Amino acid sequence: MRARGEKDVFKRTQSRLTIGYSWQIMLFLILFIIVVFAVLYIVIFKNQEHQVQSMVEQEAKVIENYMTQNDQSLKDEKNQEVVLAGVEQFFYYVIDPRGEMLLGDEDIPQFRSELLSSIQRRTPEENKIYQERLQIHLSNIDHIRREKSEHEIQLTPTQSDIRLMIASEPIMYEGQFIGTLYVGKDISFVYQLFKWLLIILVGLAIVFFVIALYISYMMSKKAMIPISHAFNRQREFVADASHELRTPLSVILSSIDAIEMTIDIEKDDFVRKLLFNMKDEVKRMTHLVSDLLTLARSDSGKIEVKNDIFDFKPLAEKAIESVQPLAVSKQINLQFDAPETVIGQGDRERLTQLIYILLDNAIKYTPNAGEVGLSLLVKQNELCIKVYDTGIGIKPEEQQLIFERFYRSDKSRSRQMGSYGLGLSIAKWIVDIHNGSIQVESELGKGSTFIIKIPFFIKNNQKA
Ligand code: ADP
Repeated sequence: MRARGEKDVFKRTQSRLTIGYSWQIMLFLILFIIVVFAVLYIVIFKNQEHQVQSMVEQEAKVIENYMTQNDQSLKDEKNQEVVLAGVEQFFYYVIDPRGEMLLGDEDIPQFRSELLSSIQRRTPEENKIYQERLQIHLSNIDHIRREKSEHEIQLTPTQSDIRLMIASEPIMYEGQFIGTLYVGKDISFVYQLFKWLLIILVGLAIVFFVIALYISYMMSKKAMIPISHAFNRQREFVADASHELRTPLSVILSSIDAIEMTIDIEKDDFVRKLLFNMKDEVKRMTHLVSDLLTLARSDSGKIEVKNDIFDFKPLAEKAIESVQPLAVSKQINLQFDAPETVIGQGDRERLTQLIYILLDNAIKYTPNAGEVGLSLLVKQNELCIKVYDTGIGIKPEEQQLIFERFYRSDKSRSRQMGSYGLGLSIAKWIVDIHNGSIQVESELGKGSTFIIKIPFFIKNNQKA
């Protein structure tokens, strides 16, 4: 598993904030658009329903008055213009209880049979007002226009159907039910209106999305200012505190040395144990303070990173030598494998520290009589450092976390070992300043391998 960089933590947080803010703004906008659309839809359609309803009621009255004045039913009135349809009225039909048309007219006669069968499919009680869609075949449009020249039908070139709102009203003559009047109002323009409204709202949503993204970016940038100030203050505090602690710690250490030299500790076992423990604790604290100082300085970018050309092999051998006593105390077999020379470029002190951290961990987390190894390999312009062990291994879900500061998988065990969870954070930082990568492959109970790739190494077998 590849370790993530620490330096872009602010950028990642800012991106997350930007995305979070954008979503919130967009959610609000989408809700707003849905509510506006729904309110308009309801208001406009209710208004159309109201219009078609009053239309059918008025026309029913006109027909009833006509019958009363002429003292007759509608049986022979097929050709009479009893009702003068308005501009928006697409058709009116009076259908008797047997389903026969008594009276009626429409804008486009081609649709009569379709309209009649639609009306007959529904009973008036079932649906007092309903909508119908008439499909237009585009080839018919000119033909329709020519036929109905005196009552111009507004068909846009893209319109392929006519939307009707149909209402019905019973017709009574001398207390008897004569038939039902059906009136159809052309509401295609309402659909066209909503189509355009939707296009405009979607267009606006896209424009607002871009604006929301920009506003969110600016907001997250602003939100990061106090966070980064607080982080900087804390970093400076850690750096200053660690720096100030170093001097008293070295004074304590040299004082313990002086006490050891002045008194005869061999005689007093209790004093000897006490001094040994004190020295051990002071060394651990010095180590911790030095790690904290390294990390605090690395955050502020105040550490000078050297760029020397050197043979890496002797440095690695030295690191092996320095951990050898630790390995021997645990009967661990320590292996080292490298070509003749490993010439490279970088900060020799930091790279040695990196190897030391990894070897120290490998020995620490490997039980007695295990195996730990270091291998150096140069491939083209890349140095590959491998530190492997046959130790306790790392759980898959922890493999990413171990590079974080103060992360320890087993806290009580680490405390006993004098570990603070800073070693791998420093290792990661050293790899980062060399533009390299660090990766861990591990199986619980079987061991771990840390693979580091440093791209700066120029050539093998070329002495500095
Ligand atoms: P520590 O000082 O606790 O060793 P590190 O940052 O070096 O701190 O390591 C963090 C954690 O990663 C350790 O507490 C340990 O759980 C785990 N770890 C590191 N190296 C190994 C290893 N070689 N084998 C098993 N676990 C390891």
